[in-house]
Amino acid sequence: MIERMVLLGASGDLASRLLLPAIAQLAQAGLLPPGFAIVGASNAEWTTQDFRQHIAAGLEQHSTASASTREAVVGMLTFQPTDVTQTEDISRLLGDDRPDTLVYLALPPSLFEPVLTALAGSKLRRSDAVAIEKPFGNDLASARHLNEILHLRLPEPTIFRIDHFLSSELVRRVVALRFLNRVFEPVWNATQIESVDISWLESLTLEGRATYYDGAGAMKDMVQNHLMEALALVLMEQPARIDARSFRDVRVEALRTVATPTAERMSRDTIRARYTEGSIGSRQVPSYVNEPGVDPGRNTETYASLTLRVDYPRWAGVPFTLRSGKALAEDAAEIAIRFRPLPAYLTDQWPGVEPNVLRIGLNEPYVRLSTTLNGPEKTAEVRELHATTTPPQFTAYAHLILQMLHNDPMLFIRGDEAEESWRIIDPVMKAWAAGQVPMQEYAAGHAPPDPAP
Ligand code: NDP
Repeated sequence: MIERMVLLGASGDLASRLLLPAIAQLAQAGLLPPGFAIVGASNAEWTTQDFRQHIAAGLEQHSTASASTREAVVGMLTFQPTDVTQTEDISRLLGDDRPDTLVYLALPPSLFEPVLTALAGSKLRRSDAVAIEKPFGNDLASARHLNEILHLRLPEPTIFRIDHFLSSELVRRVVALRFLNRVFEPVWNATQIESVDISWLESLTLEGRATYYDGAGAMKDMVQNHLMEALALVLMEQPARIDARSFRDVRVEALRTVATPTAERMSRDTIRARYTEGSIGSRQVPSYVNEPGVDPGRNTETYASLTLRVDYPRWAGVPFTLRSGKALAEDAAEIAIRFRPLPAYLTDQWPGVEPNVLRIGLNEPYVRLSTTLNGPEKTAEVRELHATTTPPQFTAYAHLILQMLHNDPMLFIRGDEAEESWRIIDPVMKAWAAGQVPMQEYAAGHAPPDPAP
């Protein structure tokens, strides 16, 4: 078991808002190993005392753990100002006489390559582990390069490429629905399903994260990683076993069945857009290009939509649309499985019949099935069967930290999975960069552009 964490980027937002509150949650539940220690590092010229004060303030704001647990977590912390790109500095952080250590890269993605290179030359051991935040690479070539560096020193199961969607309840929601019921899997195919939409639509705007978001955009921030993982859960075959090897195998196989988008279909199958001035509720929102920290020259999209085809008999001809955007009229985060219409001889006789739609919440724990029931006389009515599941005990980050401490890579992205995802996205990013798909606009607080007819 991992008994120590070296946290690179310890002064950042992720550390104080999500990681340390997650650790406090595990501490409260008595799930941390005895003597667990966290060594924080970053550019900041902080002392351990400064770091402890910073995290204590973060915990007060973001953690529901008791005061004594928060105090205990703060007591686990030390801090060393570090140039994280230097091998000697990393070796000093790791130390010699120590338990197995998880090195967590809570750093800007631009630092992943130099930091992993420094780590590869350091005192890292094969029994240590590395956690890397998203986005893993900037394109297929850079993801391959990061994998090569990682594999110099570590076996794949101790490399934790993080996608918190995979560590959330979403996986259990989809897996349980599909494989622990008899009624869904027999209709989970192209004969019954007409199309699948996977959407993450937000009314939120940049929330102070322009530096990161303007360098990424909707496609790299959401579609390439989170929505691609949701797609894999829908497409995948049943794993032979519920263990890391089988579950990662079926996810990668699922992504392999997705056809690489072609130049001819690019303007029909992809949409890129960004928001202009508007209002969301009572909030006035400036045009994206006028948001503080945005460089209009980057031409970053705030809405991305991508329709994919799948070369696999189960899914022949079914379009899968992945879309995500900011500053939209409303929030919607779900997988919508749209079933084929019934034959006309039935729908003609029963006014009101509509095709079934199964909706699975990506963020909220719901499953909803629109179902046709009998209406008055000889009509039909559509009613929704709605179920919500018991909320999880832990946050996604608490769950994933627990998995890493136990060296279980099941809910982390394997190297080849990251590369498959980039294989699908790369041609789209290249076509967009070459101006082959025009940038559209939508007013903040409104619906995103419609797909081409
Ligand atoms: P921040 O910009 O808030 O923090 C980045 C951290 O990296 C800071 O501690 C910063 O230290 C440190 N750092 C930057 N440059 C150097 C350097 N040259 N040497 C040493 N340390 C350096 O980023 P976030 O915490 O928001 O994000 C970190 C990672 O987590 C990113 O990959 C992001 O994509 C991912 N992520 C973040 C989420 C969030 O909600 N924040 C959610 C999901 C993923 P200093 O302050 O001293 O400059």
